[in-house]
Amino acid sequence: PPAAAAVPQTGADGLVLLRRVGVVDPGSLDDYRTHGGYAALRRAFTLGPAGVIREVTEAGLVGRGGAAFPTGRKWAATAQQPDHPHYLVCNADESEPGTFKDRVLMEGDPYALIEAMTIAGYATGAHRGYLYLRGEYPRALRRLRTAVDRARARGFLGEDVMGQGFAFDIEIRRGAGAYICGEETAIFNSIEGRRGEPRSKPPFPVEKGLFGKPTAVNNVETLVNVLPILIEGAQAYARTGTGTSTGTKLFCVSGTVARPGVYELPFGATLGELLELAGPPETLRAVLLGGAAGGFVRPDELDVPLTFEGTRAAGTTLGSGVVLVLDDSVDLPRILLRIAEFFRDESCGQCVPCRVGTVRQEEALHRIKGLTGAAAAGDIALLREVGQAMRDASICGLGQTAWNAVESAIDRLGAFK
Ligand code: NAD
Ligand code: SF4
Repeated sequence: PPAAAAVPQTGADGLVLLRRVGVVDPGSLDDYRTHGGYAALRRAFTLGPAGVIREVTEAGLVGRGGAAFPTGRKWAATAQQPDHPHYLVCNADESEPGTFKDRVLMEGDPYALIEAMTIAGYATGAHRGYLYLRGEYPRALRRLRTAVDRARARGFLGEDVMGQGFAFDIEIRRGAGAYICGEETAIFNSIEGRRGEPRSKPPFPVEKGLFGKPTAVNNVETLVNVLPILIEGAQAYARTGTGTSTGTKLFCVSGTVARPGVYELPFGATLGELLELAGPPETLRAVLLGGAAGGFVRPDELDVPLTFEGTRAAGTTLGSGVVLVLDDSVDLPRILLRIAEFFRDESCGQCVPCRVGTVRQEEALHRIKGLTGAAAAGDIALLREVGQAMRDASICGLGQTAWNAVESAIDRLGAFK
């Protein structure tokens, strides 16, 4: 079936994902429908589950939680599992320091996420979706609860969604403040009532996830992208962005800028262009991309394209879209120490390289802060050794990336020289 082009997916200022935020009444299902709501789910029912997965795959959508895994591949792998039931989990535990984009989507356009989760459930053969929400987002919780209740009361969730014979419902679960509970397998443990500790992968969740059953886990922003894909069609969607990073991306700009906040830009815009919008500092020292697990960009590198491939080539990562701007008044060693404290504090302690390595990293940074030359050299060598051990041998992404920002500051910014 052709894409339903009746409702433009691009609003004022080229916004796609944010086009309803601040425009629609987040408490009103009718207002959501007036602004194009539920047109995507209607089209999903005409395409069928395989057709939805085909559109999402052809659109080139990749995960916006930070890892950029192809969403169509994840959905196809879940849908084809013979074991049942299948589950959908929306990872709304947004906890990466400097990340607040999913919060804006959930607070400003909650029905969009409910609709997108329903489409994901339909495509992957899941009849139950869990929305795992960061505990520190009380306003998002209130709005999402209202949206789920009203959608259910009007037949957009429940035994017979939109009279199409498809059963799907959503349960909201709140995190309790642990960063590690944003790791997808730690979410499963948390929902199941166990300690929030990551599981070893493989098996990947698509095969053995929540309650040991096939599970698709998607970030909030990833899911919301499915709406314009289904309404515009995959090809139209993929015309925005670059060949391997299609569509638009939400960037969380913070630090020493005049206008911090969430910005939506097509993939491929440069970091310099984004900073111009946000009002850069007069004396830029560095930009941390990708959050605590990311890497630094220098002032002479602002032409780096904001794409997954472009930031990787520049030796950093786009991650979940953190753009933390530092001017030359900042105490860089202090910031690195804060990052190290964060990882030491948030390590779940399950595996030795991370449990011990994050402590050793913080100790070394305490020692070298303020020192130079030979005294620092030994500790920098120790940091490299510990960092490599964490990267190679930790169970999950927390330990594997806990040394990224410190390494990047030493190698790219000449920290501690
Ligand atoms: P990952 O690369 O291990 O996996 C990414 C996704 O792809 C997962 O859902 C995984 O199950 C799936 N996957 C990978 N290989 C697969 C395969 N062969 N078959 C089926 N599915 C497969 O990354 P991760 O550890 O899940 O996430 C790391 C990312 O999380 C980092 O990039 C980091 O930036 C980001 N992060 C984000 C936040 C946030 O608040 N948004 C917080 C912490 C970390
Ligand atoms: Fe826990 Fe760290 Fe090991 Fe991840 S790497 S399982 S957070 S101890």
